[in-house]
Amino acid sequence: MSTTSLPDTPLPGFLGPAPKKLLIGGEWVEAAGGRTFPSINPSTGETIAALAEADAVDADRAVAAARAAFEGPWRATSPRERQRLLWALADAVQEHYDELRLLEAVDMGFPAGRRRTTTRPTFEAEVLRYFAGWATKIQGATIPNSMPGSVLSYTLKEPLGVVAAIVPWNRPISNAVWKIGPALAAGCTLVLKPAEEAGLVALRIGELALEVGIPPGVVNVLTGFGETVGAALAAHPDVDKVAFTGSTAVGQHIIRAAAGNLKRLTLELGGKSPDVVFADADLAKAIPGAAMGVFSNSGQICCAGTRIYVERPVYEEFVEGASDFARSLRVGNSLDPETRIGPLVSAEQLERVTGYLDLGLREGARVTAGGARVTDGDLARGYFVPPTVFADVTDDMRIAREEIFGPVAAVLPFDSLEEVAGRANDTEYGLAGGIWTRDVGKAHRLAARMQVGTVWVNTMLLMDPAVPFGGYKMSGWGREMGEESLEGYLNTKSVWIDTD
Ligand code: NAD
Repeated sequence: MSTTSLPDTPLPGFLGPAPKKLLIGGEWVEAAGGRTFPSINPSTGETIAALAEADAVDADRAVAAARAAFEGPWRATSPRERQRLLWALADAVQEHYDELRLLEAVDMGFPAGRRRTTTRPTFEAEVLRYFAGWATKIQGATIPNSMPGSVLSYTLKEPLGVVAAIVPWNRPISNAVWKIGPALAAGCTLVLKPAEEAGLVALRIGELALEVGIPPGVVNVLTGFGETVGAALAAHPDVDKVAFTGSTAVGQHIIRAAAGNLKRLTLELGGKSPDVVFADADLAKAIPGAAMGVFSNSGQICCAGTRIYVERPVYEEFVEGASDFARSLRVGNSLDPETRIGPLVSAEQLERVTGYLDLGLREGARVTAGGARVTDGDLARGYFVPPTVFADVTDDMRIAREEIFGPVAAVLPFDSLEEVAGRANDTEYGLAGGIWTRDVGKAHRLAARMQVGTVWVNTMLLMDPAVPFGGYKMSGWGREMGEESLEGYLNTKSVWIDTD
């Protein structure tokens, strides 16, 4: 197996030469079928690790381990102890963040960035700390009733049980902690199934969970394919909830599979988010802001503002500015500290995105930046697409309607708030939307009209552990982050007591 690194970037020892195993019940075990599959560095196309390929038998083992932990040590763990353990995991994620970031960089291509020593609290550690805080604050209510006599009624909030967390590859550290945080705070146990394109970070976080003393079986990690182990978890009769993040099409599979035992579901699905730039916006801020709202993580962000509607008087100025900005972004190996735009995650994703680039041209859109795969020098080995701007896009074009999940902005002109509100909502998705204006009234009016779970005004992609995130329409069910996310991991029990 070949590994690669830039000269000054030693890769984490965790990668090692031996195939990675599954984490089940606190033990590292081979897949029942004995199979492995490769993890590819998308910057170079080289294999960096072999991962155990879990199947339905492993799903059974992991669910049994999670059930045993739920009924045993985890149920006996006090809220304060769960809080302490989640906080300890947050500290471990913080302490090992540079390692996790390097794993993320070589596993799925997110640029590792300049900083090699992280002192500032990282977003992912803060997510875990936020949910650590909730562990001691989950409570029911004493509710007055109208029964004659003396009858007491109150509610208890109880953990759902065993959660299967099935996640995509686009931000492996976040994808893992967004599920682990609320699940463990609520008192659930978890089987985490990372995407086949990027399993390393989930395995390392599973290892950290064990190291900080989270009881065996509370966090289990199964690497493998969606159609096999993912489907087995979604249909498993002893799984109480699936917390899924991924595409809308797979979300629909999960709904059908979960029907067998009526599992609770939260679904964080796809998007094609509108980003509306009014002529009165501060374009010096709006141009790079809207552009990075598409190009961050090479466009592999569910809430990317990929449909950019620009008010006609500033349309050409915006297109020119966004195109100049797109060309200024350095595309490169995810380990290069100067890289702003890394590769796409896989050869399959490259094919999908370049297919849309061809389609955009055939549909009659005008390419003003990017537009074709990078074929220069070393980057030709990897899966690189430069930030691309399509101008003169119309609403009916597929590049304006379908989620591309690549660094591709479709820029469309508009003439009035009323018109753009209708066009922004003319989509099956409803994850997020952006608005750029100096007119606060206009911002409120359009924010109220947008059928989306998150609206950003004069900014894009901001997230906080306390602020709910999730979709309207076919972008999903339920919310992650914030108090609201905990409800997705809890049952409410009403207790009546006749005290006479
Ligand atoms: P995907 O739906 O192909 O895969 C997501 C996960 O589901 C993977 O772990 C995969 O192995 C698993 N899976 C696939 N088929 C399955 C099946 N039949 N049963 C059970 N599990 C199965 O998505 P992806 O390509 O990994 O990620 C990209 C998609 O995720 C995009 O649509 C993007 O918008 C979405 N996404 C959404 C959010 C959000 O918060 N809304 C965040 C990130 C990504």
